[in-house]
Amino acid sequence: MTDNAPKNSLTLLGLGDMGTALARTWLAAGHRLTVWNRTAAKAGALAAEGAVVAASPAEAVAANGLVVICLLDDATVGSALDGVVLTGKDLVNLTTGTPAEGRARAAWAEERGARFVDGGIMATPTMIGVPGAGGYVFYSGSRALFDTHRATLEVPAGARFVGEDPGHAALHDVALLSAMYGMFAGISHAYALIEGEDIAPKDLAPLLSEWLGAMGFFVGNAAERLTSRDFTTGVVSNLAMQTAASGTLLRTAEQQGVSAELISPYLDLMRRRLTADPAAHGGEDTAGAITLLKR
Ligand code: NDP
Repeated sequence: MTDNAPKNSLTLLGLGDMGTALARTWLAAGHRLTVWNRTAAKAGALAAEGAVVAASPAEAVAANGLVVICLLDDATVGSALDGVVLTGKDLVNLTTGTPAEGRARAAWAEERGARFVDGGIMATPTMIGVPGAGGYVFYSGSRALFDTHRATLEVPAGARFVGEDPGHAALHDVALLSAMYGMFAGISHAYALIEGEDIAPKDLAPLLSEWLGAMGFFVGNAAERLTSRDFTTGVVSNLAMQTAASGTLLRTAEQQGVSAELISPYLDLMRRRLTADPAAHGGEDTAGAITLLKR
């Protein structure tokens, strides 16, 4: 930091649901916090809790060396900070974006004389400031910035630095969220299958949780196979068998009157891998199908 503000002093731009949750944890921890939000009324309650309310992004940024940004999207970050002097500032951007946006925003910050770290928040606002809730934030970009402000950044949630490429925080964030939506898709399909039957969702729930937990082995197994590029050694449920069995899944969906739209893309991918070369791929683990996805 290049200013004389105390080390536990920072600025926060954005007081949406997430920004407000972040602000509260820093205030509760005794940090001196300056805030700005487009809709000024949202800052009222925080002012009562000790926050200094700035009238503009420029005023907020000028107040501290460390500036945390938690706005809607990358375009909003660009417009809010348009023309604001950033020389010597340490910018931590917790706004969700793509890896490319993270890299472009880092270059943009550097051109303006600021250090930059991008962040990906793996938490909901209710998990912020709740130790043990499991929330954390991925950070990437300037290691020096992260090391300087680590203690402050760890107040609202755990901090995991994933490298100096400013796109990697967003990439980790999106990878985990994408896996989560795939899991939600499978769970949604499972509940749709039992709808109208004499099986209560709450009775299926523990069985689903247990099964998904047991199948979690695929995470590490696929990582090992992608590293070794060996998709055949030690396979216990091969692709030929699984592709044949997938017909049962699709027929069951049809018989239950359930759309297969959430599960058929993955089953199609397995079939595509198999039919490309049944002799070569029939004995593979399903992890081999991952290689078809990269365009
Ligand atoms: P909200 O929709 O609650 O808040 C959006 C914020 O962006 C507000 O401060 C809003 O200001 C501001 N904003 C929107 N448009 C503009 C604009 N044109 N100019 C200036 N400011 C603008 O979102 P959250 O607080 O929940 O999310 C903030 C970031 O955190 C997002 O990138 C989100 O993806 C990320 N995030 C959120 C999570 C969540 O569960 N909520 C989880 C993980 C990440 P105003 O109050 O004036 O509308």
